[in-house]
Amino acid sequence: MIVLVVNCGSSSLKYELFDSETETSLVSGLADRVGINGGAEAVLEHQVPGRVEIEKQQPMPDHGVALDLVLATLTDAESGVISHLDEIGAVGHRVVHGGERFSEAVLIDGEVIATIEQMAELAPLHNPANLMGIRACIRRLPGVAQVAVFDTAFHQTMPPQAFLYGLPYEMYVEHGIRRYGFHGTSHRYVSLVASRRLAEAGIELPDQKIVTAHLGNGCSMAAVAGGTSIDTTMGLTPLEGLLMGTRCGDLDPAIVPYLHEKLGLTPKEADTLLNNKCGLLGVSGVSSDMRDVKAAAAAGDIRAQAAIEIFCYRVRKYVGSYSAALGGLNAVVFTAGIGENDPLVRERSLEGLGYLGIAVDPEKNNNLANERDGVDISCSDQPVRVYVIPTDEELMIARDTAELVS
Ligand code: ADP
Repeated sequence: MIVLVVNCGSSSLKYELFDSETETSLVSGLADRVGINGGAEAVLEHQVPGRVEIEKQQPMPDHGVALDLVLATLTDAESGVISHLDEIGAVGHRVVHGGERFSEAVLIDGEVIATIEQMAELAPLHNPANLMGIRACIRRLPGVAQVAVFDTAFHQTMPPQAFLYGLPYEMYVEHGIRRYGFHGTSHRYVSLVASRRLAEAGIELPDQKIVTAHLGNGCSMAAVAGGTSIDTTMGLTPLEGLLMGTRCGDLDPAIVPYLHEKLGLTPKEADTLLNNKCGLLGVSGVSSDMRDVKAAAAAGDIRAQAAIEIFCYRVRKYVGSYSAALGGLNAVVFTAGIGENDPLVRERSLEGLGYLGIAVDPEKNNNLANERDGVDISCSDQPVRVYVIPTDEELMIARDTAELVS
C-alpha cells in the first residue's frame, strides 16, 4: 500500500510517501513558511531519493493550498512518483497530543477530530496545526482512510507513580494535569530496533530494560520495560526534563512566581522565556544549535562549556534514575540530531557509569557508520549495550497507518 505521512506545524507541512510493504520511502518534502505574510514567501522542497531536489516558490496562504501543491507535485509527470492520487491507500497524520484518550493509532472520524480539538488546550501550538493538515487531507482526498498517530500514545502505559505530579489529586481528575510525555513515536521506533537486537543476543522481550534518549532540538528520555514506556522526562507539556535547544527542562516551580514578582513577567512572558530563551541558547548566550555551542566551547567560551555540561549531566542523571525505575538495564539508545551525530555528548553523558555496566568504546563512538539498524558503541566486555539508532518517526507512522487500514 502507498501511504502518505503528513506532519503539519503552524507554518509548515512535512510529507513523506512510503511503499508500506517494502517500507521504502518514495519521496519526502517540506512546504515551509505557509501562511506567513499571507504565504507570499512560501517554498516547497521535494526530494525523490537519488534525484536532484526540486524547489518551488509559490504563494501558500494556508495548509489547503500547500497540500494542493504537494499533491500536484507527487503526481506531476516530471517530479512525481505516482501517476494518480487514487494510488494513495491511506494518510497517516502526526498528532502531538492525544491526552489519555489515545494509547494507539486510530482511524480519524468526527469524534476523533473533536477530541484532538479538546486536547489543543494542552498543546496550543501543535494540535490546531495538526488539525489543519487533517482537514485539508479529508477535503482533498475524500474516501481515503485518514489515521492519527499520537506523540503521547506510547507513554500511556506509564504507571500512576510516574505520571502523577505531587499536586492535589483533583487537579488530575478535573483538569487532566499529569505527565503525558512526547516524542513517543520516536522512542517506540528506536526501542523496537534495540529490542530486536537484544532478542538476537538472547534477551527476550519481557526481560528487556531499555533507556532511550531522543536528543534533537527538543530532548526527552524514556524508560522502556518489556517494550512499554514506564517513565519519560517530558510532562504535561514538552517543557519538562532535559535541557533542550531553547527550553529549560526541569525547574523549581517557584521560579515562575519569582520571575513575576522580581522581573514583572506576565504568565505569557514567563512561558515564552522558558520555552524560547532558555536551554542551550539561554545558558550559552551563543545559539540553540549544539554545533555552534560546541564550537564556542572549544574556543574557550565558559558559558558554552557550562551549557554542554548541564546538557550531558541531565542525560546521565536520568540514565541512573531510569535504571533504578527499571530495576536494571540492558541498553541505552541515542537518537535524533544530537544523539545520532555528536560523539562528545554521547561520551560525556555516560561518563562514570561503569558501576552500572556502561562503558562507551571511544573508537566505535568516534567512527560511526550510519546504519538503519543502529550501531553498538559499547565496550564489548560490558553488560549494557549502547546503541546509536537513527530515528524514523515517519516510517513508524506509515507502519501504524498501513496496519490499521489493512
Ligand atoms: P528536531 O528536534 O527539530 O527534529 P533534530 O533531531 O534535527 O531536531 O536535531 C537538531 C539538533 O541536532 C541541533 O542542536 C543540531 O545542532 C544537532 N546536530 C545536528 N547535526 C549535528 C552534528 N553533526 N553534531 C552535533 N550536533 C548536531
